Amino acid sequence: MQRGTAQRRAILQALREAPGPLTAQELHELARADAEGLGLATVYRNLNELEREGRVVEVRLPGDARRYEPAGRGHHHHFRCVRCDTVFELELGCPLSMLEDVTLPGGLHVTGHELVLFGVCDACGGSASATRRDSVSGSA
Ligand SMILES: [Zn+2]
Ligand SMILES: [Zn+2]
Ligand SMILES: [Zn+2]
Repeated sequence: MQRGTAQRRAILQALREAPGPLTAQELHELARADAEGLGLATVYRNLNELEREGRVVEVRLPGDARRYEPAGRGHHHHFRCVRCDTVFELELGCPLSMLEDVTLPGGLHVTGHELVLFGVCDACGGSASATRRDSVSGSA
């Protein structure tokens, strides 16, 4: 088996298993556990190729590094933890669907929107019962 194929598969798998879109650095950390000798430059090269093939899409959140997620997830939004910077997919339906394809006063026709929620994730003590603890990366 070619080494490149294994690396590419590890990258795709890490993207699929993540709670949300990953930066190239986060992806590198996760994928290299399954792909020996995987370098950050290789991660970038694979991301470019996968994006060109339409299998991965770029996600841009304000004030954040570029992130990537598997293509085909449809219209959805993201939640970013302000403590650990993890970004999560939001499973709930779009709360702004009433703004889809409408014309606002002044003749402003809406064709799309972006929405990012910020807050504290469960691991960082987001729920009331959880006690505050420092974020631990790599915990399963
Ligand atoms: Zn967090
Ligand atoms: Zn997403
Ligand atoms: Zn929406």
